[in-house]
Amino acid sequence: MAIHRSDSPWAIPVAQVGSRAGQTKSVDMVMPAPSGIGDEYFGIPEGSDVRVEGRIESLADGLLLTATATAGLVGECSRCLKSLDQDWLVQFSAYFPYDMPESTPDFDGDEDIDAGEDEGEDTYPLFENATIMDLESTLRDFFVGSLPSQPLCKPDCLGLCPECGADLNADPQHHHDTYDARWSQLGDLKRRLEQLQDGDDGTSDESGDGTDDDNDAGTNAGTDANGHPAS
Ligand SMILES: [Zn+2]
Ligand SMILES: [Zn+2]
Repeated sequence: MAIHRSDSPWAIPVAQVGSRAGQTKSVDMVMPAPSGIGDEYFGIPEGSDVRVEGRIESLADGLLLTATATAGLVGECSRCLKSLDQDWLVQFSAYFPYDMPESTPDFDGDEDIDAGEDEGEDTYPLFENATIMDLESTLRDFFVGSLPSQPLCKPDCLGLCPECGADLNADPQHHHDTYDARWSQLGDLKRRLEQLQDGDDGTSDESGDGTDDDNDAGTNAGTDANGHPAS
């Protein structure tokens, strides 16, 4: 069963531009995002709109696509956990040689043509007698390669306070006196240890306070319940 690449939503007809070297064709298309760009937590959702703007140049032995692809990036900021809803843009060049077998994975081609790697281009096959350029794997490769390992809502996101979780973007002056807090906690610990060592003194102080409170409460309750003093 032959796959009709011309039916692919990523297909660009290139028969005309490829008919003679030196021609160009401008590209401005909206395509669905291919699968596999990021994951369910962060990436470009499959099927969402990708705008591809650029141009195709026909060279002696293939077609060169130079383009900018823009898509909606979805996920969470890795610092402040805010939902990301931003355009993600990737600029790329891809080369489509006329004589590249359709079944050859592009990484084999890269290994064979080391010199070509200097230009930073990736190589993809054309389809249907070099009349169809299909951008599915091209878009996937370049978007996957461009996704940040740590997505940010903005480049200078201040993130969350590690002490209390406050959003530091909303309050850049926010801070805690970290050293004071730690020393005072140590101070509390020291006092408790001293109380434990003293033993009876510390325990009797605490139970004494408790007893006083209980007595007060009991007296008040008794008075209120009776309305008047019983005796
Ligand atoms: Zn953020
Ligand atoms: Zn804080």
